[in-house]
Amino acid sequence: MEAIEGGLRQTRARIERACERSGRSADSVQLMLVTKTVPVERLLEALGTGHALFGENRVQEAGPKYAHPRLRDVEVHMIGHLQRNKVEQALRWASAVHSVDRVRLVTMLERHVDPASPLDVFVQVNTSGEATKFGVRPEEVFELVECVDRSPHLRLRGLMTIAILGAEPEVARPCFRLLRELRDAVVSRGHGTATELSMGMSQDLEVAVEEGATLVRVGTAVFGHRPTPDSYYWPEKTSGAAD
Ligand SMILES: *Cc1c(COP(=O)(O)O)cnc(C)c1O
Repeated sequence: MEAIEGGLRQTRARIERACERSGRSADSVQLMLVTKTVPVERLLEALGTGHALFGENRVQEAGPKYAHPRLRDVEVHMIGHLQRNKVEQALRWASAVHSVDRVRLVTMLERHVDPASPLDVFVQVNTSGEATKFGVRPEEVFELVECVDRSPHLRLRGLMTIAILGAEPEVARPCFRLLRELRDAVVSRGHGTATELSMGMSQDLEVAVEEGATLVRVGTAVFGHRPTPDSYYWPEKTSGAAD
């Protein structure tokens, strides 16, 4: 309990300091707790501290965890690569998807979403140019944004990225800046709901906030190091992995 409360307090303080430095109000940045590999007991602890927004990467892992009676009503977003044959399962617990990166996935989401509760969507952009990263290329953003906007039951909330992870948080800055510029261009082309920037993780959240993040996704800084390497959650991008 103490570990989570301490990690949460420190993380919030980091966000607040970064907001102060960049002249933003602290409530302009939402904190998502990324709960991959985190067992249900610890999720319940986090929930007990009053925290309300969670993120998960894998459908197989998240489904059983968030089926727990005390976790059924919490807000969980899908942030990992989503295969089309897992869409139906993901929509049982996810109220938003941050990893929308291709037209065929948009079509599948629109087909399976409950028309009574529209799905919030972020378009994932590959801002680092690394071949192993998922996400559309910057020049493909508009095509996908328009596709989402044509889907009656999907609501475009903004853009998401995973930056270059380096020894120094500064290496991430150009990625975050590019995402902000793309978001500004998307909004100015008339997609007025797409104001959010989902960017920044444990090691680079200050830089992300300085560049305009509205939602930071934090795991390690709150829950400690994971037993599973990230490559398990960010599979190598091969032609077979896309769908
Ligand atoms: C794991 C993960 C995070 C959180 O990473 P930490 O370094 O543990 O804070 C954020 N976003 C995505 C997409 C992730 O897979």
